[in-house]
Formats: sequence, structure tokens, C-alpha cells
Amino acid sequence: MATQPSDLDGVTESCPECTRDTTHKVRVELRTESSKQENSQFSREPYRVATCMDCGNETTQRMNNA
Ligand SMILES: [Zn+2]
Repeated sequence: MATQPSDLDGVTESCPECTRDTTHKVRVELRTESSKQENSQFSREPYRVATCMDCGNETTQRMNNA
């Protein structure tokens, strides 16, 4: 399988599953906070999702911590 250089996508972070530093693929998702149905359009928060390339574990982190 041909592999492309993915330095832009991969970041090295510690994985709780692997219990060591592994390469993670990072993406940003807008997720609706589903606790309130009203104004759900205005409560979408960006989340940073890092997926471990070794075990596939996802670490989700809320970006706006206000
Ligand atoms: Zn892992």
C-alpha cells in the first residue's frame, strides 16, 4: 500500500491506551451540545479529536473552554 507523507496530519501525543507517545491524526469537529434542545444551532462547539494511529483510540478535547 502506498503511503504518503503525512507529517502535516500526524502529531505525537501520549495515548492512554498505548501508555506511550504515538502518532495521532487530529481533526476538528463541531459538535452540538445536546443537553438543551433550544438554541442548539448556537451551541455547537469545536472539539479537537485526536485518533491514535496505533490503536485507534480517540481523545476528544473541547477547544473552547470558556
Ligand atoms: Zn494508542
